[in-house]
Amino acid sequence: MPPEQPAAGHAEPLHQPFMCSFCLRGREETGVLAAAPTAAVCRDCAAKALRMLDAHHTSASDPLPGTPWEALNNEELLIRLPRVAEARDQVEQHLQRWVAVARERNISWAAIGTALGMSRQSAWERFRSGPGA
Ligand SMILES: [Zn+2]
Repeated sequence: MPPEQPAAGHAEPLHQPFMCSFCLRGREETGVLAAAPTAAVCRDCAAKALRMLDAHHTSASDPLPGTPWEALNNEELLIRLPRVAEARDQVEQHLQRWVAVARERNISWAAIGTALGMSRQSAWERFRSGPGA
């Protein structure tokens, strides 16, 4: 039997977002970020999104925005790579917490494994130590 996990309400809060999920600029550069558990948006990107949505509302022929790396030179791209890796780690921490909550609700390792497309044993081996381990 795996050790008891702390209740979700007592778990440490997720790390504050450190970068905008859209432009990948750091919080030190963007200022305040509006954040959900796995994504954040800076003021500039939120404003662009609103303009896009407004424009789309009046003209459906506007081109979709490009990918974030299109406007970057190689040096800028390399600067952002570790941020993308940090974002991956944050998503992994978030998944660990969700699985911990599932276990607190006495959801079986078999059901968790099925939901994640893995065996009961694989789910237990991957998540038994809980978030932050
Ligand atoms: Zn942004």
